[in-house]
Amino acid sequence: MPNIKKCTRCDETEEIEYFSIADNGFKCKNCGKVDKSAIQISKSTVDAIRYIVIAPAKKVFSFDLPEDAISEISLVSKVYLNEKIN
Ligand SMILES: [Zn+2]
Repeated sequence: MPNIKKCTRCDETEEIEYFSIADNGFKCKNCGKVDKSAIQISKSTVDAIRYIVIAPAKKVFSFDLPEDAISEISLVSKVYLNEKIN
């Protein structure tokens, strides 16, 4: 399960702006910048990923998201799953 509570490197909880594939979780603005595997994500994507990871499976798709958050999530999921399968 990815670490979605705080930055995987420095424990920052407020300025989460990246998802790191290498470290399997969120990264803050500063740590994400220097991680080549980190994908930049918006605040709504951060919230949505938290929701998806925590929510029971059948409720996962019962919320509305802005268009940009949907494409960010699908990017993160694709890269993430790829990484885990290979
Ligand atoms: Zn950090």
